[in-house]
Amino acid sequence: MEPNQEIRVTRSSMPPWEEYLQEIRPLWESRWLTNMGEYHERLERQLEEYLHAPHLSLFSNGHMALELTLQAMGLTGEVITTPFTFASTTHAIVRNGLEPVFCDIKDSDYTMDAARIEELVTEKTSAILPVHVYGNLCEIEKIEQIARKYRLKVIYDAAHAFGETKDGVNCACFGDASMFSFHATKVFHTIEGGAVAYREETLGKELYKLKNFGILSETIVDGVGSNAKMNEFQAAMGLCNLRHFEEETKKRKQAALRYREVLSGTKGIRLPLKQKGVTYNYGYFPVLFATELQRDSAYEGLKRHHIFARKYFYPITSAFHCYRGKFDPERTPVALDISRRILTLPLYAGLSQGEVDAVCRILIEILSHGL
Ligand SMILES: *Cc1c(COP(=O)(O)O)cnc(C)c1O
Repeated sequence: MEPNQEIRVTRSSMPPWEEYLQEIRPLWESRWLTNMGEYHERLERQLEEYLHAPHLSLFSNGHMALELTLQAMGLTGEVITTPFTFASTTHAIVRNGLEPVFCDIKDSDYTMDAARIEELVTEKTSAILPVHVYGNLCEIEKIEQIARKYRLKVIYDAAHAFGETKDGVNCACFGDASMFSFHATKVFHTIEGGAVAYREETLGKELYKLKNFGILSETIVDGVGSNAKMNEFQAAMGLCNLRHFEEETKKRKQAALRYREVLSGTKGIRLPLKQKGVTYNYGYFPVLFATELQRDSAYEGLKRHHIFARKYFYPITSAFHCYRGKFDPERTPVALDISRRILTLPLYAGLSQGEVDAVCRILIEILSHGL
């Protein structure tokens, strides 16, 4: 049986149309559309509460949240990070005039290998920037320990980990700061948007300024800021989506469980690891193939059936064209190898059991042709 419609790798969650309409109607009265308005304030407080974050600041997108957090912290020199991530993580470091130092990842869950961080610390190191890849949480305690020993800041790229907890503690509480992305493709979104959860209250003032051109008061501009404010329509989308977040996550879980059920035992692929004590948001379903050739055949084969998986993350950021000659991708062999064999399968709330089964059937068929 063929899926009768194309299946994309993701599909944005949307609140009922009437709900959003009702939410935004007062904006036609207030005419206050951006610049930290009432919706912005409400969403900030609600998210702070929902994530049990010490403090939280909203942004126009996740990338600017990360870039301006690094700036607000006044980091210098080198930042230890992972190349197995989205472009944003590495670009945020480089665009701050800082030097990314790439740490390899673990073969098991694809997060930064904490055992390899210390050998990368130099006198110039000012921070560690790990990523909770696919919602797998990093080795928080070990990273914290190293950071304390060398007095480094820890900023998590938590773009994939919204709402997740480890042993009951929300990931928004980890490190000095955690960046969340509310891009349309993420489990919780504000169309475009993002936030930083942070520990030190003083950082908040700096973030507030930097997302608004460095403006302190009507006549004083005391920071070289950017423009990264979340507008009221985005915040309204967030207020609506937050009401439906848990039910959307349950639907994603259904699809993810079905993938596991149908694909378990399939020769030639490894299913995603489940970390102990972690409540997942089911943002991604990455499968690892034995070879790059098999991964690419699966990707192409699915595409011929109008099913769009994603080579996520491929290539690793240290291999990007824009960084050619600057970094050596071979220095993180595990990340390089995983990036060539990984494929994330379609996963979103509302992906039906029939659709999951169709994806699996085609995948198993491709694998059984013995490439
Ligand atoms: C989505 C994402 C970002 C960037 O977030 P935007 O909101 O799209 O700017 C950064 N890091 C990772 C790992 C992401 O997946």
